[in-house]
Amino acid sequence: MRGWRRARLTERTKQTATGRTLKLEVPHWPGHLAGQHVDIRLTADDGYQAVRSYSLAAPADGDAKASRIELGIQAAYGGEVSPYLADDLPVGAEVEVKGPLGGWFVWTPQDRGPLLLIAGGSGVVPVMAMLRARLATVSDDPCTLLYSVRAPDEVWYATELDAARDVVSIRRVYTRSAPDGAERPAGRMTERDLLGLSPPTGTRCYVCGPTGFVEHAGALLLTAGYAPGQIRTERFG
Ligand SMILES: Cc1cc2nc3c(=O)[nH]c(=O)nc-3n(C[C@H](O)[C@H](O)[C@H](O)COP(=O)(O)OP(=O)(O)OC[C@H]3O[C@@H](n4cnc5c(N)ncnc54)[C@H](O)[C@@H]3O)c2cc1C
Repeated sequence: MRGWRRARLTERTKQTATGRTLKLEVPHWPGHLAGQHVDIRLTADDGYQAVRSYSLAAPADGDAKASRIELGIQAAYGGEVSPYLADDLPVGAEVEVKGPLGGWFVWTPQDRGPLLLIAGGSGVVPVMAMLRARLATVSDDPCTLLYSVRAPDEVWYATELDAARDVVSIRRVYTRSAPDGAERPAGRMTERDLLGLSPPTGTRCYVCGPTGFVEHAGALLLTAGYAPGQIRTERFG
């Protein structure tokens, strides 16, 4: 049981056809930084256990007794854990969580300078925690989100992102089908999508998504003149 805490599912909301926001109440949660993740452990009646990692989607709420943590679960077709968490775990049921985990892919309000966030698919989850932490901070530093999804109906946090446009510059890349009036046709992210986003000097870059996406985006950033030390990445595998 070492390091594992019981967590109760209190709320589930739909983000996309296969993406869900889960809120869990965790007694004595120690708090966390934007970008960190937790491990979730499920135990079947016969004792079989499965553990998967999930990013925290919001900054810590500061409630030392029973914090609410928020996760974003993309149900992977044929997956063992994510479809169960996304649709089957009953509200009120308990799972075990370990964390917060990870100390590299984090952003804190003390990290000054322009912020460039690049997310592919459900990789937007930890990026959203950073964006929400940034929105809660008084700062003149520019903040930009480059968000790649296959199609308009796969955009997570759509209403919240639209409301943030006064503070955050948001560019969307649709890889398979773009809506009418989109600023670019559908297609994979290219160097052109980075043009004019955030100057390489002094910008902190955070990239999250599937491994192929993260490698592609990282290579584009290097070609565009960002230094390796400016780029932090998280791969969902
Ligand atoms: C640090 C970190 C943070 C993460 N954060 C998030 C997050 O915020 N949100 C999120 O949704 N995910 C996140 N992930 C990914 C998550 O941990 C899981 O990998 C994901 O949910 C899939 O788990 P699963 O049990 O559903 O699928 P798995 O059972 O692990 O299977 C993964 C994929 O492989 C396929 N597969 C499995 N077995 C076979 C087989 N024998 N042959 C062929 N294909 C097979 C499945 O169909 C599925 O598509 C994160 C990962 C890491 C490392």
